[in-house]
Amino acid sequence: MGDLSEHFNHKDFKCACPECRGEGFKIHLGLVGILEAVVEHFQKPVKIKSAFWCEAFNEKQKKEKLSLHVKGKAVHFSVEGIPISEAFKFTETIPGINGIGFYPQEEFIHIDTRPVEKKDAWIKEGERYSPLTQDKRRQYGL
Ligand SMILES: [Zn+2]
Repeated sequence: MGDLSEHFNHKDFKCACPECRGEGFKIHLGLVGILEAVVEHFQKPVKIKSAFWCEAFNEKQKKEKLSLHVKGKAVHFSVEGIPISEAFKFTETIPGINGIGFYPQEEFIHIDTRPVEKKDAWIKEGERYSPLTQDKRRQYGL
């Protein structure tokens, strides 16, 4: 039992930069529920690579505006022992995810709870972000 939910702890979602020392983080509980559904489905631990970003860390990522990470509404994760493509295919069926990104090189999935009217799915290849088209899905087995 974690101190936030069955499988997660507050510390899993903190900003990882040395400047804020993880103080004052936010996390949207809807995301925690989504991650619990992933754990339950695969019966494997979910590894959170990045969740909340403080404003200083957001700036270091060279984002031109405040990302959803700063609002605690975005998470990068993988599932232990599960190919990233398999984890992606299940995750995108979970209701409430309005932004989802596939990062095959970095081996993680981005999910966020942006407003439904801004729904989006993308892939990052090298430094390039593109829409997750049917062609890309075929290419990566999604
Ligand atoms: Zn920070």
